[in-house]
Amino acid sequence: MEHFRDIATPTRTAEIVKKYGLSMKKSLGQNFLIEPNILTKIIEASGIDKQTNVIEVGPGIGALTERIARVANHVLAFEIDQRLLPVLADTLSPYNNITVVHEDILKAKLPEDVTTRLDMTKPLSVVANLPYYITTPIIMHFLDSQLPIDTFVMMMQKEVAQRMTAKPASKAYGSLTVAIQYYMHAELAFIVPKTVFSPQPNVDSAILKLTRRDKPLVDVSDETLFFNVVKASFTQRRKTLWNNLTQFFGKGESEKAWLENALSLAKIEPSVRGEALSIADFARLANALHATK
Ligand code: SAM
Repeated sequence: MEHFRDIATPTRTAEIVKKYGLSMKKSLGQNFLIEPNILTKIIEASGIDKQTNVIEVGPGIGALTERIARVANHVLAFEIDQRLLPVLADTLSPYNNITVVHEDILKAKLPEDVTTRLDMTKPLSVVANLPYYITTPIIMHFLDSQLPIDTFVMMMQKEVAQRMTAKPASKAYGSLTVAIQYYMHAELAFIVPKTVFSPQPNVDSAILKLTRRDKPLVDVSDETLFFNVVKASFTQRRKTLWNNLTQFFGKGESEKAWLENALSLAKIEPSVRGEALSIADFARLANALHATK
């Protein structure tokens, strides 16, 4: 295998881009990695080994794909840009454990599009340098899919990684934090400088690592209600919890009595802001609302 000629170097990437007359599409979040050391760090953070199957979103010209293929059992890569398919067939030809699928990941039928292509008895991870314009939808698509993904190691905009790993009462804490941390342990692995990409993105980047919890972080009797309470509580961050909850659930006498009673049962002050509540607080409140419906 061509270990000595990594795709992710400024010279090799420039050669490939020239050979195929490629122009990067900003609209598809095409910022390719050209720094081998960052790829080594991503692979280390992922903890994948020869037993692991890996889903990659957006292989680009294959920089990360080949590095995953060297350490994993099999890589299944979804690429939306038709122009990159002949490029990938060329750059990844030394590897026999990569499947590239021409598909918009958000339109992929999950779990079928994965379970029909990978041996599902093996551990499954997602490793990707994500197209930033759809970071959250991609993660939600995977979390909703019921695919048994143990870990996600993903490059994304630094601010989004900070929101996913935020602590209560911080500025970055919000409904996204709760949605992610409910299912996954979230850790910001490291910050990435702009200089490792070509072209360089306008925003700062970070590697986020998500590890699936054995069971959700909190016990919730009605998940839809729980996520509605969370969504409602952060609707207008400067308003009180009471204002946001009544705005969402209704201002009639019966709704107000229901909310007031549940807040009191959950021992939560209506005058606080939503961001003051921990995930356990949201669960207590949602469970009290559910029990008194
Ligand atoms: N993995 C390569 C690397 O690290 O150099 C490229 C990463 S680049 C940040 C994002 C890649 O995602 C691009 O190749 C882009 O074409 C692809 N992409 C964008 N939207 C996509 C979608 N909806 N489904 C699949 N791939 C997508």
